[in-house]
Amino acid sequence: MIAENLKNLRKRIEQTCQKCGRRSEDVRLVAVSKTFPVEAIQEAIDAGHIDFGENYVQELQEKYKAFAERIIHWHFIGHLQSNKVKYIAEYINLIHSVDDLNLGKEISKRSEQCNRIQDVLVEIHTTDEATKFGVQPEQAITLIKELSQLSHLRVCGLMTMGPFSDNPNDSRPSFRCVADLKKQIETEGIVNVRMHYLSMGMTHDFEVAIEEGATLIRIGTAIFGRRTKNLNGKER
Ligand SMILES: *Cc1c(COP(=O)(O)O)cnc(C)c1O
Repeated sequence: MIAENLKNLRKRIEQTCQKCGRRSEDVRLVAVSKTFPVEAIQEAIDAGHIDFGENYVQELQEKYKAFAERIIHWHFIGHLQSNKVKYIAEYINLIHSVDDLNLGKEISKRSEQCNRIQDVLVEIHTTDEATKFGVQPEQAITLIKELSQLSHLRVCGLMTMGPFSDNPNDSRPSFRCVADLKKQIETEGIVNVRMHYLSMGMTHDFEVAIEEGATLIRIGTAIFGRRTKNLNGKER
């Protein structure tokens, strides 16, 4: 079932890339396994998948331990509290959700203790929804310049979430805004900052995200099915 879903999804990614003249190798798929058990992750691993996204530190910790000897790339995609950074600093592959300097400082400090340089994305707030995290687009460059001064953190791109909506096209302005911002940041030529990743697009809007330049898409439902659990009521 999960293997089949992954196969179908890869086909859809391929088709969308073809339609808009992009190479499907340039779109990396993060399987969002939050709320799903380790058995589901195992199935995806068996189908050849290695990138997994989680958004609760405690849940990620448990899963990390279950697969400790496996080569999984773990992505932290949810809101990250500074006091939780220490739990994941040793192994997290990419943190998608840095939106303030103090969080960045904590990540750099903890990564230094682990002798690592942590790759992060800066989360951009692109909707009017008050509940979502992320830095305002106008403040992004200032924040990125500050983050670029930190010794054990490296900004590798931007992340955003589209609005709550059934219509994937409603996400297009958010995605375009972040793609434009990426170009603007590239022209700034900030030392130690690379704009390698644009993390945008979920199950309902990833095709639009690919059209707008996403290089990382974060997909849960289309791979693992609908989430019945809603941990802490904090989903999205
Ligand atoms: C849950 C989640 C996703 C995946 O959502 P689906 O609609 O299940 O694909 C992607 N990004 C973030 C930040 C999430 O929290």
